[in-house]
Amino acid sequence: MSTKFKLMLNIALFGPPGAGKGTQAKRLVEKYNLVHLSTGDMIRREIAEGTDLGKMAESIINRGELLSDEFVVELIANSMAQHRKAAGFLFDGFPRTVAQAEILDQMLEHEGTPLKGLISINVPFEELKRRILERAKTDGRADDNETTVERRFKEYNDKTLPVANHYKQKGLHIDIEGNRPVEEVFTSIVHVLENLK
Ligand code: AMP
Repeated sequence: MSTKFKLMLNIALFGPPGAGKGTQAKRLVEKYNLVHLSTGDMIRREIAEGTDLGKMAESIINRGELLSDEFVVELIANSMAQHRKAAGFLFDGFPRTVAQAEILDQMLEHEGTPLKGLISINVPFEELKRRILERAKTDGRADDNETTVERRFKEYNDKTLPVANHYKQKGLHIDIEGNRPVEEVFTSIVHVLENLK
């Protein structure tokens, strides 16, 4: 692990479906010993385990819509509470609305460990669609199909994109060109992180 970060390294990976957040998250978590908090993974786990939360979430996620802010904030808050000694959190797929961003900021500021950056991975729309439909052949995700993907993009444009502005105003938004090989994208993200104040 890098010794550069004396305080917690809390960062968020941001971008549309198919941008490569999950792929980069796995590598970053390993390099910096972070706790990976992916709301999508948490929800899929609840669904697989057949919990009450999972039952509530299933039809919404399968339609490609966003779950309520209360629902995902509770998942995130519970997971953070379970990892109080973490070297840092890597938020993946969260925050996805400005309301979620405001709550996250409050939670982290309350702990004295604010977000260090929102890493925004940019990939052209046609490439995103191609990647998701390719992923659909192997990952078995019920929401990786053409109809649901359109809805997920619409949700992203309407509700999630404003999160980028929220962090631009705070000077925490970092752009990364994501239409490149995985290793190159990773190297760029590491470079940015190593140069964070
Ligand atoms: P992901 O694995 O991040 O692509 O998330 C898959 C699906 O889970 C999304 O399309 C939403 O239905 C739901 N979801 C994941 N994260 C959130 C979030 N932060 N807010 C609302 N819904 C979410």
